[in-house]
Amino acid sequence: MKILCKIALLAPALAVSAAWLVVLRLKDVAAPLLVAYGLLLLGLAIGLLWPHALGRRSTRTRVLALLGAPAALSTLALYFAVVFYVTDVPVLLGLASAAALAGALVVGLRGRRGTAGATAGRTRRALLLGGAGLALGALSGLSVSRVDRHRRDVLAQGAQELKEAVRAPGARRRGAVGSVRVFPLHTGDTVVTYGQFYGGLDGWEGLTGYTRTLLDKAQIAVPVYAYLIDHPLHGLMMVDTGVSWEQANDHDGYYGHGGMASRLLTERHEYRLTADQDLRVQVARLGYDVKEISTVFLTHVHDDHAGGLRSLPRATVVMDRRDWDEGVLYPYSFDLVKERLSFPAFDSGPLLAFPHSQDHFGDGSVVLLPTPGHSPGHMCVLVRMDGASALFMGDTLYTLPHLAVDEVRQMTIGGADTARQVEAARRVQRLLASATDTVPLFAHDNTRYRHAVASAFSQGRPDAAGLLALRRHMDTVLTPDWRLRPGQAPHFVPSGAGVGEVAFR
Ligand SMILES: [Zn+2]
Repeated sequence: MKILCKIALLAPALAVSAAWLVVLRLKDVAAPLLVAYGLLLLGLAIGLLWPHALGRRSTRTRVLALLGAPAALSTLALYFAVVFYVTDVPVLLGLASAAALAGALVVGLRGRRGTAGATAGRTRRALLLGGAGLALGALSGLSVSRVDRHRRDVLAQGAQELKEAVRAPGARRRGAVGSVRVFPLHTGDTVVTYGQFYGGLDGWEGLTGYTRTLLDKAQIAVPVYAYLIDHPLHGLMMVDTGVSWEQANDHDGYYGHGGMASRLLTERHEYRLTADQDLRVQVARLGYDVKEISTVFLTHVHDDHAGGLRSLPRATVVMDRRDWDEGVLYPYSFDLVKERLSFPAFDSGPLLAFPHSQDHFGDGSVVLLPTPGHSPGHMCVLVRMDGASALFMGDTLYTLPHLAVDEVRQMTIGGADTARQVEAARRVQRLLASATDTVPLFAHDNTRYRHAVASAFSQGRPDAAGLLALRRHMDTVLTPDWRLRPGQAPHFVPSGAGVGEVAFR
């Protein structure tokens, strides 16, 4: 029975330690360091439960002194190195205060027995500990306003940077009304593992994929695109909203709103974004106001697509209900739009390769196409322009080469989700094959195609020559049966330090 009790204690301790190690790995702590630290924690747990396992003369007190102290110190060091953020100060002081007060209570209760001298000594210690506890508690309370002020300063400085970026030269006036215009907005970059982006056919699938994300730190930076659409009938719209300045530059503050777990599970340097890449700045520099944006089509809930939602005070957010019902991982991005969500019914009948669609305005100008797989409610958005259509891919396929889904594939969730993802890719292939006036616009394309898109859409809409150039570019990368042409297969090129590159061969 006793051994069962010990195992019952060991199991949760190991689970908590494993979760903590995963967090540290997510934060890029070197693997050898984590192995040593993990062994230390394991040794401590076993040593405390079965002291004799570590040597015949080993006792719990010795284990605590030999392994407990280094384990506690390294835990603290790792916490301060990769987790600590300024808003933790009041919590840390509060915890220290509680510990001191509890210590005072224990010493005080024990102090009633023994000789007069010993009792006096214990009382003194209890008073000292109690005093320290009260002082730490007071400091914790006082630090709240200091920490708040610090965060306000960071945000005010960001707001100032954004303001200056709007005023920078290069801003232009909006064009004449009349035709649909689409502006690709490069809202910063995100750092991802190469395999997560390109390794779907090399074992990056399901649980294996997630495990490899922890172990394999061959990382690349890929762009995050959102798209602004100026429509003569339906006003100003967006497909996705990209990343915001706060998300990238006040990461812990932004994700701290979702509680400690959000902060722990997101990487501090996941996003890179300069002030002039922020959605508000880019929209203003194109001659528009974010308040004019009336509709956002959100391809899916992930945070590199939803980060700009907090900047859009009036927009209705159209997204697939399945993504919302599945649960939003970082609700803070959605906090201000919760009352303005609209879920399509997908009851407008089939469209080309898609059995279901949603003709959003009822005039065929914007059609939503379900492409589940990357997320349960992922959708693509088809926007008709004059003489051409744009198919906004979201994360159905990350880049142009990903259209060769049998040769290049992003990490997939596994099981039925992988099957759905591949099915969505094939529907997209069929749509692009039959509608030759349609160009795919990606959310994370890091190939030369992104430059071709930027040039074709520099004035908001591609003319016949621009459209032809994009389709021709597609033909140089992909064969008519959706295979990669020679020289187009991606591979990882490590750099000396930090983030590597993608090359094609
Ligand atoms: Zn994405």
